[in-house]
Amino acid sequence: MRRPLVAGNWKMHGSRAGVEALASAVRDGLPAQPAAEVLVIPAFVHIPDVARVLDGSAVLLGAQNVADASEGARTGEVSAGMLREFGCSHALVGHSERRTLYRETDELVAARAQAALDAGLTPVVCLGETLEQRDSGKTAEVVLSQLDAVMNRVGVAGLAKSVLAYEPVWAIGTGRSASPEQAQEVHALLRGHVRGQHAAVAEELRILYGGSVKPTSADALFAMDDIDGGLVGGASLQADDFLAICQAAR
Ligand code: PEP
Repeated sequence: MRRPLVAGNWKMHGSRAGVEALASAVRDGLPAQPAAEVLVIPAFVHIPDVARVLDGSAVLLGAQNVADASEGARTGEVSAGMLREFGCSHALVGHSERRTLYRETDELVAARAQAALDAGLTPVVCLGETLEQRDSGKTAEVVLSQLDAVMNRVGVAGLAKSVLAYEPVWAIGTGRSASPEQAQEVHALLRGHVRGQHAAVAEELRILYGGSVKPTSADALFAMDDIDGGLVGGASLQADDFLAICQAAR
């Protein structure tokens, strides 16, 4: 049995006061023992404030990226060890906004995942195709090559300590979610690919869906066999919406 995980990616939103209020509302709005693990992912500078709010609660804390090295001359980067010191347990790697806007390559994403693992942080590895790639029948090729880049670097043992997030680029921030069937097809493909390397790791691996998840769509998405929760952007900025999505993951 895979315990679902619902993660809220707050991106570059919020003020210190706003983010503290949001974190408090998430903390206070969850049942004592939620069925799903819940993770919030603020901007780097908000991590200490959110860590204080979440201290002693079951809500997990993550970062939106992590450096590809443990320390050194990496201006503008934040290492996994630094994030751990501030209470983070997870870090996103390979979010499509990083891949597209900041030209992060498969190799860099894989190195970031490895650095996270080396410091005991769980990488949430984001994968997904653009609309053009989907329309030209390249979805499988794209997501599997993104997965292989990470698997080749961290090995199946590293993958066992990671989380995958399938996020079709055309669904992120557009209000147009993949249908449950479209998402399930890709999730099953990803899990099947891992199964080819190691059956037990494939069964345990959590694969989240991300892309315009809303309270109204979460139930149907999370009911699919290979969807183990969600990575939520826009809807995670409203505590009530995010809590409703968390409740849908059972
Ligand atoms: C995301 O940023 O990972 C995301 C899925 O955003 P949204 O839910 O807004 O599409």
